[in-house]
Amino acid sequence: MTYTYDPQNIFARILRGDIPNKTVMETPHTLVFHDIRPQAPVHVLAVPKGAYVTYDHFAAEASAEEIVDFHRTVAKVCQMLDIAGPEGYRAITNAGEHGMQEVPHFHMHILGGRPLGRLVELI
Ligand code: AMP
Repeated sequence: MTYTYDPQNIFARILRGDIPNKTVMETPHTLVFHDIRPQAPVHVLAVPKGAYVTYDHFAAEASAEEIVDFHRTVAKVCQMLDIAGPEGYRAITNAGEHGMQEVPHFHMHILGGRPLGRLVELI
């Protein structure tokens, strides 16, 4: 599989500092910021700094250091935002057309703070 990354996508521009963001946590390999159109009381996006289009791209080609950093940062953010307890949260990553991915830079949505309903609405 060959992945084509568009360096003009909005998250690439956020990572370059061209567009502001509301940062929750930043590490050498990962940025977590608030979604601009939150769907729940907690709605943040975890983004690796590397140029990866989708989750499978990231999982296939990122270094072990990037992958560990990304997941450990998500864990810290869940603790920090107080959603890691029994009430829980949902982590979602959309890919491609069927996943209805809007921004072609891999990101994980982390949502919480209210009951989130069924995962997929069958229409
Ligand atoms: P997806 O459909 O999974 O690609 O989701 C893209 C998400 O990015 C949506 O939830 C948008 O609200 C969010 N988004 C788009 N532009 C920005 C931005 N400038 N800052 C923060 N979140 C954004």
